[in-house]
Amino acid sequence: MVLNGTAEKKAAGATANQLAEAFGKQLSLASRSVHADDYTNTHPAVAPPMHVSTTYRYSKNPDELVPWSDVDPAAEDDFYIYSREKSPTTTRYEAILSSVLGGPAVSYASGLAAFHAMIVFLNPKRVAIGGGYHGCHGILKLMKKLNGLEQLELEDENDLAKLQKGDVIHVETPLNPTGEARDLAYYRKKADELGCYLTVDGTFAPPPLQEPFKFGVDIVMHSGTKYFGGHSDMLSGVLAIHPDRAHGKDGSPGWLKELREERLHLGGVMGNFEGWLGVRSLRTLELRVKRQSESTQRLVDWLASQKKAGGNVVSDLVFKIQHSSQQPEASDPDSWLCKQMPNGHGPVFSLWLQSEEHAKRLPSKLFLFHHATSLGGVESLVEWRAMSDSTIDRRLVRVSIGVEGWEDLRDDLLQGLQALQAELKN
Ligand SMILES: *Cc1c(COP(=O)(O)O)cnc(C)c1O
Repeated sequence: MVLNGTAEKKAAGATANQLAEAFGKQLSLASRSVHADDYTNTHPAVAPPMHVSTTYRYSKNPDELVPWSDVDPAAEDDFYIYSREKSPTTTRYEAILSSVLGGPAVSYASGLAAFHAMIVFLNPKRVAIGGGYHGCHGILKLMKKLNGLEQLELEDENDLAKLQKGDVIHVETPLNPTGEARDLAYYRKKADELGCYLTVDGTFAPPPLQEPFKFGVDIVMHSGTKYFGGHSDMLSGVLAIHPDRAHGKDGSPGWLKELREERLHLGGVMGNFEGWLGVRSLRTLELRVKRQSESTQRLVDWLASQKKAGGNVVSDLVFKIQHSSQQPEASDPDSWLCKQMPNGHGPVFSLWLQSEEHAKRLPSKLFLFHHATSLGGVESLVEWRAMSDSTIDRRLVRVSIGVEGWEDLRDDLLQGLQALQAELKN
């Protein structure tokens, strides 16, 4: 079995294009999650191997030797040289992600490594960003130290007007920690007017919930640590490139080649074990995310109806529920929100409790929800958000729904709120 044999690779499973041709249509997301990497099979084993090697043998045939400088990093069938460039296991992970995200995907060691690589690549003088994941703001601060990069407020029209050609509008949607959505079509229009790139942090609404490329987004970033990993056991970051940008035209190299070249020098590649775990996890992406989204909707609907009815423990202790399904546009099927999230809302929402004390004490009353940061795993989590993000109101509790039965989660929240109420009355 020769790893660096292109002929052998071609003879393995079908590529995405071959599958689409054979079926006369693009396969479903669920099928692509299981088969989009078939073309990388080089061994009869059905379960994917984990290649841990950092280095790869060159061809024994001197006539086949291609120096590294002549290798196109964007070519699908080229060979492996050194694992800081790429490795077979993470290539497999990227093959699935490219298919499910709808544009060539490049993986990184973490979500923040991906965000950093994106900013280094686009090299803007200004970035408009609003709220959202605090770590991305940390990267922009580092960039400011290096090159004076200016950070502008996304939701301030006067700030947006300061953007110039080549700058970046970065939209996190749905937003951390509230789970509320932002209008991508609106920001695409702004980006076009101003000559800016539009990038999206889509971590909170993985496929099948949202397809940012339909709205002309240039790069979609994900913290793969969340729903792609899905089991709270691996770090990963992903940049998916709009198909029109990925491959060069008129002699330009294309973003895929450039991002891969830059990743080689930034050095923020994923580990092989993480790549392997990622492949295992992506097989069930649609199953998990659909279930998590549906359970979340049921829970949020239940909480909202309790709050509206009044005279119960939810209405006594919770004064605000934030989630994209609670935004006014969510009830209008023609709204931008329903067009942007046609397959359901994300599995994260926030509860605002009556006081900081309530928010701090609720997590310890719950049995099924772990009190921990992060999200996207099969285990439901709550976090008194003040624990890890100093910029967030101290009455806010972030909730990430896992794959448990939703009625059990509802009962746990109910008993937790009751226990909290009893404790605070004493
Ligand atoms: C977790 C997260 C990140 C950072 O990802 P890491 O994998 O932890 O580096 C970025 N954006 C959002 C919205 C996140 O939730």
